Amino acid sequence: MGQLLTRRIELPDEAATIQLGRRIARSLPAQPAGWLVLLQGDLGAGKSTLARAILRELGHTGAVPSPTYTLVEPYEVDSRSVYHIDLYRIASPDELEYLGWDDLSDGLRIVEWPERIPGLEADADLHIGLDYAGDGRMAVLRAVSSRAAPVLQGMDLK
Ligand code: ADP
Ligand code: MG
Repeated sequence: MGQLLTRRIELPDEAATIQLGRRIARSLPAQPAGWLVLLQGDLGAGKSTLARAILRELGHTGAVPSPTYTLVEPYEVDSRSVYHIDLYRIASPDELEYLGWDDLSDGLRIVEWPERIPGLEADADLHIGLDYAGDGRMAVLRAVSSRAAPVLQGMDLK
């Protein structure tokens, strides 16, 4: 697994997860097309909370429905394409292709359940692992691509 930099942050409550999402959004390049951010964690770990916070900080003001059934929810935010993707129901890379995965690289891709496609991490920029920790959560952020390393390095995590 690629790993150029790893940082951890405790998320004692939902507000902390939302704040992390905001910080991730602010740290990304102004035009994040082509960036691939993976959100990995068990059911209820906070993946969708994080994805929603990223979208809101990027400027999306409407609803953020779960992509569990649609697999992809597309957004256009300030002339940037953002795709919120849920791979829980994907069984093989063939299905990913059928989904039009390659066409989504014109935007920022935020992916829940990335482990459903084992090779996906090789193409990723940021991998965010969420785990239960008492009543709260713990996040481990890993820069997978070289361009993500300075982004993660500069992220204000406290
Ligand atoms: P997932 O998409 O991983 O299944 P969700 O984002 O839907 O998880 O979150 C599940 C629940 O966990 C929500 O009720 C959310 O408010 C809560 N939650 C999110 N982050 C935290 C946290 N850091 N501490 C406690 N609860 C959290
Ligand atoms: Mg979810």
